[in-house]
Amino acid sequence: MSAATERTQWCFADQLGPHFVDDDVERVLLVEATANFRRRTYHRRKAHLILSALRHRAAAEPHRVRLVRAESYSAALTEFAPSPGRPLLVRDPTSFAARRFVRRLAAGEVDGVPKGAVDVLPERGFVATPQEFARWADSRGGRRLLMEDFYRGQRRRHGLLLEPDGLPAGGSWNFDADNRRPPPAGVTRLADAEELAEPWWPEEDEIDAEVRRDLERLVTTGVRFVGEDGPRRFAVTREEAVAALDRFVTGRLAQFGPYEDAMLAEDRWLAHSLLSVPLNLGLLDPLEVVREAEAAYRGGRAPLASVEGFIRQVVGWRDYIWHMYWYAGESYRDRNALDMTQPLPAWFEELDAGREVQARCLSDVLAGVREEGWTHHIPRLMVLSNWAAQRGYDPARVTDWFHTRFVDGYEWVMTANVIGMAMHADGGLLATKPYVAGGAYIDRMSDYCGGCRYNPKVRLGEDACPFTAGYWAYLARNAPALRDNPRMSRALAGLGNRHDLDDVVSQEAARGSLAP
Ligand code: SF4
Repeated sequence: MSAATERTQWCFADQLGPHFVDDDVERVLLVEATANFRRRTYHRRKAHLILSALRHRAAAEPHRVRLVRAESYSAALTEFAPSPGRPLLVRDPTSFAARRFVRRLAAGEVDGVPKGAVDVLPERGFVATPQEFARWADSRGGRRLLMEDFYRGQRRRHGLLLEPDGLPAGGSWNFDADNRRPPPAGVTRLADAEELAEPWWPEEDEIDAEVRRDLERLVTTGVRFVGEDGPRRFAVTREEAVAALDRFVTGRLAQFGPYEDAMLAEDRWLAHSLLSVPLNLGLLDPLEVVREAEAAYRGGRAPLASVEGFIRQVVGWRDYIWHMYWYAGESYRDRNALDMTQPLPAWFEELDAGREVQARCLSDVLAGVREEGWTHHIPRLMVLSNWAAQRGYDPARVTDWFHTRFVDGYEWVMTANVIGMAMHADGGLLATKPYVAGGAYIDRMSDYCGGCRYNPKVRLGEDACPFTAGYWAYLARNAPALRDNPRMSRALAGLGNRHDLDDVVSQEAARGSLAP
């Protein structure tokens, strides 16, 4: 094939796996756009992973992949110069803004790129198609779009964990009740109590070293990062991603389910998969991942409850959150049903818990984000966003914070997770009740409270746990808005019995955005 008719596909940094590019595409274009790092303050580890993944992809196929380093996508495309005789394919990207940009490219509305020079291909990287999701959502009249119902449809459509008669394996679709164990008593690391392999860790190479030097150079040009960039923790190549998947399925999956909600101060990883980064970079196909997990169950290497819990996260939550991002529309991120307007304090923005925050759970989780750019889903939901919701932080700012501070954060992941689930800012479209809890939950599911200067049972005075007191202040503040929610009726009824409620509310108002 001549150079003039070669098919080239531009892949974004979250489309790096083989399943994004068909065999008849001869060339792949990758773009490192520095402007992306100037627009927002990202965690340094996140920038490292993205650049490392792009550069490793280019290095793996030097004759097929061209990596363009430019200030912006527009500048890179001017350099590549697509034309109707040299068309560029691009698979639909993962944010509203990026989709607008590729459509403008295809329409010839970007300088230097004539109409007909760019073809937009359908999205990949998820299990359900947009049409399947829309059919499912429309069949419910756009209401009660519960993840559980969507997940069961996914299992049926793809024959996941089904008996030959089509019923769910083990007689149940949902093994959540088996998957909520607190951490084992008396240990600081899960591996001290259970048989558990170390997570798969990558070996850094010269590309990682070069990325670190380039990030330093970017800082001298005015780019600002937060967080620390220690040894790389996550897979950034297809080979690494497959190795990480294999380690998880063979050595960690069996313990994943029971302890997926547990927290240990000295064991951030517990039995989690650490696959969200390679999944969201597009290095693994989600169906491939869950089929491996199911094979472990069928082969007697992992219990059903644990495998079900993992498959639920991947083809349930991950796919559901992706489709809700598009289905709810671009204005969804501005929803603010509970009228939360507080700015994020500097110590939260900067992940700077060390000096200021005495609440042990919050301090440790924020330190984990600073050091790793990652915590598992329960510290995210029940410590960080529980705190943000109790304090009434602006939901759109909280969404940006999760997007930029987490190595696996993207706009599509964080918008529905934060606006809908964590902050209940959509008024209940996605979750049937707010995910807020007092210190009792954190005490039950972690080993934090024993070493904390606060007491999770106390809500008033010097020792008052800021999560317990914050919970009651949250309920008092939001009672009128939550009054008609049947799942909140018991909690709200409890407000009437709190003789000290006014004092708790005053105490927490005085705490304001001060570090607890
Ligand atoms: Fe967190 Fe309260 Fe427990 Fe301290 S007592 S670790 S602030 S939940």
